[in-house]
Amino acid sequence: MISLENVSKWYGQFQVLKNCTTKVGKGEVVVVCGPSGSGKSTLIKTVNGLEPVQKGQIIIGGKEVTSKATSLSKLRSKVGMVFQHFELFPHLTILKNLTLAQIKVLGRTDDEAREKALSLLERVGLLAHANKYPAQLSGGQQQRVAIARALCMDPIVMLFDEPTSALDPEMVNEVLDVMVELAYEGMTMMVVTHEMGFARKVANRVIFMDAGEIIEDTSKEQFFTNPQSDRAKDFLAKII
Ligand code: ADP
Ligand code: MG
Repeated sequence: MISLENVSKWYGQFQVLKNCTTKVGKGEVVVVCGPSGSGKSTLIKTVNGLEPVQKGQIIIGGKEVTSKATSLSKLRSKVGMVFQHFELFPHLTILKNLTLAQIKVLGRTDDEAREKALSLLERVGLLAHANKYPAQLSGGQQQRVAIARALCMDPIVMLFDEPTSALDPEMVNEVLDVMVELAYEGMTMMVVTHEMGFARKVANRVIFMDAGEIIEDTSKEQFFTNPQSDRAKDFLAKII
């Protein structure tokens, strides 16, 4: 579903991604971890073309992100992305937040969009909040709305960038629970997170990055019980 082949990226002179190669199969859940500044956010943003790369090839759902011929806006509508900060539209109700892109980008009717939105709000346990504004919800609830909003577009892949790291601790699990459910339903997911409980539960593979390089790309069993590199060992010792 996702393929990165020798992807390199520079910010000016600074090489932020170094020859990154990996694949994510349909229905796979891949957790990306590594120290702060190692390039995790940049890597995940290259997948849907939010960050252009200077070298290498990226393919998602059979479309080449790195080709000039590919319409990035069309491609992005099929790739759900959830960030650390929820980025809901503050001036729109929860329901409007969920219907807007369905109507504008996918051309769904108001009724179709509304039906889809309500069913996804129900799925994340927030149906009762449809007519509220984002600021009236807790951080955990807003992040669940952000996930529901992404799912409204029927994405072929979901990308998450530290979706729980801005949340108060008591709200982390309600968001992870939604993500775990999504994983069990077979969604293809690439998740930057330090929540190793989540990784242990649902990851098929773990990618460990350091200084712009993919240092390990391995099964979660292997990663947690027998990491190959000293850098991964150090990292695990610090966070577990
Ligand atoms: P992570 O998500 O692993 O913390 P990032 O991908 O955000 O890492 O950043 C990787 C490196 O790239 C960091 O050293 C960061 O300072 C640098 N960086 C990120 N965005 C930019 C940018 N727009 N311009 C220059 N350097 C950047
Ligand atoms: Mg980051």
